[in-house]
Amino acid sequence: MLQKTCRDFADNELKPIAAKLDREHLFPAEQIKKMGELGLMAIDVPEEYGGTGLDYLAYAIAMEEISRGCASAGVIMSVNNSLYLTPIMKFGNDKQKKEFGEPFTNGQKIGCFALSEPGNGSDAGAASTMAAKDGDSYILNGTKAWITNGYESEATIVFATTDKSKKHKGITAFLVNKPTKGLSLGKKEDKLGIRASSTCSLIFEDCRVPAENILGEPGFGFKIAMQTLDAGRIGIASQALGIAQASLDCGIEYSSKRLAFGKPIMKLQAIQHKLADMALRLDSARLLTWRAAWLKDNKLPFTKEAAMAKLAASEAATFCSHQCIQILGGMGYVADMPAERHYRDARITEIYEGTSEIQKLVIAGSLIKEYGLN
Ligand SMILES: Cc1cc2nc3c(=O)[nH]c(=O)nc-3n(C[C@H](O)[C@H](O)[C@H](O)COP(=O)(O)OP(=O)(O)OC[C@H]3O[C@@H](n4cnc5c(N)ncnc54)[C@H](O)[C@@H]3O)c2cc1C
Repeated sequence: MLQKTCRDFADNELKPIAAKLDREHLFPAEQIKKMGELGLMAIDVPEEYGGTGLDYLAYAIAMEEISRGCASAGVIMSVNNSLYLTPIMKFGNDKQKKEFGEPFTNGQKIGCFALSEPGNGSDAGAASTMAAKDGDSYILNGTKAWITNGYESEATIVFATTDKSKKHKGITAFLVNKPTKGLSLGKKEDKLGIRASSTCSLIFEDCRVPAENILGEPGFGFKIAMQTLDAGRIGIASQALGIAQASLDCGIEYSSKRLAFGKPIMKLQAIQHKLADMALRLDSARLLTWRAAWLKDNKLPFTKEAAMAKLAASEAATFCSHQCIQILGGMGYVADMPAERHYRDARITEIYEGTSEIQKLVIAGSLIKEYGLN
């Protein structure tokens, strides 16, 4: 039922406007509000805090369908669900869940997650944003880069170093309302894809944050970030599945109608092989993604499996969108058809929430542990 609801919403409310949103860099504010009404902005948040009370498998299915209609709406939803609300519900106290969680569950307000910096993305433990204790507050100074939902969000989780000598063990997570004195926004990035979502830097200059806004314990921030990204990768894998599926849909529809040498190109074995390869990569990545979600839902270890899912699904999205352009020929290369947008949107899934190279490090690290060789 959830899948059908999301598919209908994507077909009726997202697909028809996705090209315009992309072309004009328009944030889909109305559509995000409607997604909130459908319960899609807080899928695994308990009902007592205003969420939908479903699980991560449900989240994966919903994310795929929404991203199939519009990958930008997908990432906006993914950041609010898995990078913002999931850690608040997991590590926050009751007051934090009520103040920073509940109002962000229905699409009226959205949150963001500020870990990366201009000087470090993959190496997040090298964070240089500082938080100095001052009475019962902390004073934050530094710049966070590439923050999705940076412009529209009304709160952020920000990771800052409270004790530099402890390196990554000195990083603390803070909940910060937006706007707040001492927090300003950098310019909106002009991106290759997912252009209807905003990405910008957050600049902290003597920004005072109450100590009671620490999420978890001081020095626990790096662990929170890593655990959050493990779960977030299931969301990005699902976003990639949506892009891959949209590319397959587009390739099938076009090849069934386009005639060459007197017959639909779908009858040509060369085209059929492309469609078969696309379906194979898409389905295997989907199974990996649903396995990772199922493991998480059943409280079993899922770090390696989430990394495998994200790696496979993001490569499937890149592959399928590339093949789709080839199937469409010249029409694949122009903005009249969605193929070129899918190709541009796919690329980011291999970069954010850990690049493909980082996913391989995570997978290999887990293998080394499993074999007792660390
Ligand atoms: C559109 C967009 C949205 C984003 N949204 C957010 C957000 O909401 N919040 C947030 O905190 N961040 C966000 N990011 C940041 C994103 O997570 C980082 O860009 C990503 O983690 C890579 O970091 P980097 O860009 O600094 O690249 P680098 O870390 O400099 O990496 C450059 C290259 O070196 C490789 N590399 C680095 N270290 C290793 C290693 N140990 N082994 C092998 N290869 C390695 C990388 O794989 C990559 O190919 C976003 C980025 C983009 C582009």
